[in-house]
Amino acid sequence: MKPIRLGVVGVGKIARDQHIPALSANPDFVLVAGASRHAQVDGVANFPTIEAMLQGCPDLDAVAICTPPQVHYEAAKLALLSGKHVLLEKPPCSSTVQLARLAALADETGRSLYQTWHSQHAGGVAAAERWLKPRKILGGRVAWKEDVRRWHPGQTWIWQAGGFGVLDPGINAISILTRIIPEAFFAETARLSLPSNREAPIAADLLFRTDSGAEISAAFDFRHTGVQTWDIEVDTDAGAVKLSGGGAIFTVGGAPRPPDGSELESEYGSIYRRFAELIANGRSDVDAAPLQMTADIFLVASQLTVEPFED
Ligand code: NAP
Repeated sequence: MKPIRLGVVGVGKIARDQHIPALSANPDFVLVAGASRHAQVDGVANFPTIEAMLQGCPDLDAVAICTPPQVHYEAAKLALLSGKHVLLEKPPCSSTVQLARLAALADETGRSLYQTWHSQHAGGVAAAERWLKPRKILGGRVAWKEDVRRWHPGQTWIWQAGGFGVLDPGINAISILTRIIPEAFFAETARLSLPSNREAPIAADLLFRTDSGAEISAAFDFRHTGVQTWDIEVDTDAGAVKLSGGGAIFTVGGAPRPPDGSELESEYGSIYRRFAELIANGRSDVDAAPLQMTADIFLVASQLTVEPFED
């Protein structure tokens, strides 16, 4: 099969750290173009906008959209309407209705839309999902605490409306929960801490409740300067389990699970393998649950104004 000719839109941190290396390691793809206002990708055709890229590279097969979420919808819509397959970074859009519209557009245009949740590809998540599936959930705790100055330096968009604030990394934890918790659960309460000079939260204290009444608490915090923590603990009728390192390590009763092979592939290696499969099979993959849960958090939330945040 001829490699899929792909253009990357938004050449920032995630495009450089993950997408470009994953593409160069996957023979199903060839990176032929970049679209970014201030950055260039070495060795490919570069354009300032997606519009210019689509015009200048009409034989592109696919685009990967790596811009901030506030501008995902228009770029994905344009790419689908131009006949391209689309890989969309998380969070997929700033609105649940936009995501539903993109899924419908992919159907209408017959193109593949792969709306990714990279944390669902972390090494321990599939094993946790399998282990938890037959179990009764008794409770759980999520701690997603990182230093925003270290991980998101200069990312103005994350603090603007539609940028999700601490829920930008927090939605990664939510995407794992919606994958591994084997029954329906809902956002019951949320307290969002909003710096007085910003439009998006710096911290979130959440309570989810499962249909059968179990409580799952979550603490997301961008002000955390100690050991960076991305952990999920779940109590079940068969004991306690933990996913740590952002979903990379799954332990049962404190003992790491035997490797099952899924830990050998990087998150983005797995993502591009899946994208190639979807294109080959003429299918899309859109999982709206994490965005819906996050939208519900904003719906049920109370807000606490906290001290201004300076970069
Ligand atoms: P980033 O470093 O700010 O890069 C995004 C790039 O998009 C910018 O460099 C900018 O390049 C371009 N862009 C286009 N329109 C923009 C606009 N209106 N405002 C700001 N930038 C705009 O952000 P990132 O960390 O790569 O994140 C991008 C997306 O990937 C987000 O949805 C994020 O949640 C997701 N993601 C990030 C990570 C991570 O670890 N950083 C991990 C997984 C997923 P030009 O100025 O050159 O156009």
